Amino acid sequence: MPDFHNLPETQHRASYLQYQDLSQYHQLKHGTFTRHGGTSHSPYDSLNTSDAVGDSRKNVAENLMIIKQAMGARRILFTQQTHGTEVLIVDTETTETFGASWRADAMITNVSGVGLMIKQADCQAVILFDPAKNVIANVHCGWRGNVQNILERVVRTMAHHFDCRAEDLVAAIGPSLGPCCAEFITHRDIFPPNFEAFRVSENHFDLWRLSSHQLAMEGINPENITVSEICTRCHMDRFFSYRGEGVTGRFGTVVILT
Ligand SMILES: [Zn+2]
Repeated sequence: MPDFHNLPETQHRASYLQYQDLSQYHQLKHGTFTRHGGTSHSPYDSLNTSDAVGDSRKNVAENLMIIKQAMGARRILFTQQTHGTEVLIVDTETTETFGASWRADAMITNVSGVGLMIKQADCQAVILFDPAKNVIANVHCGWRGNVQNILERVVRTMAHHFDCRAEDLVAAIGPSLGPCCAEFITHRDIFPPNFEAFRVSENHFDLWRLSSHQLAMEGINPENITVSEICTRCHMDRFFSYRGEGVTGRFGTVVILT
């Protein structure tokens, strides 16, 4: 289970949770920020990271600074998430700060000091870390990501570009829709037949187990995969939930090599 960390009051009492399997490594810092401790007003209250959902740009910019400071990051990078499978390799030439000019749903880097952030409200952020090669990835994976198997693509890209071995990788799946709330009435039209193994009731699916399975199929040791098991829709007190709230903010999951 993840641990909650509260920041001092000077940092707006923002809090984030961490995954024990990743916390043991001093080479990286990571956190899934709750919706609290930011500057945005309802329905984006309050640590909203997205200026594409109707919130004020000024408040979002302040929220991003809070996250940047909390993570001790030189820069925080994020992308325009499109529910696709585009993967962005971040290298030393990538100079943009708080950039969202790329369309991609995953980022991979071996550069230290650069925070990779995924914005979410029910979708999964999946952090991957290779302690042998010091490479990190952060993946935005909603059900469309599962259908297109973006996780497979990221693990293979890590292998191709950075020589990562899947058996070395450590993975964490953060707060997102749980099997209690991941209802897909049209699942026969949108899901491939092999997703049937992850159906838990007439129209509900266990996307946590599905993502874990997709990672394991690429060779990641199941023992190295942590699932936070926190459903965003059941915990709107702590996280934004698109399904639960409709118009709402996006919370942030960040990973950074120190
Ligand atoms: Zn739920």
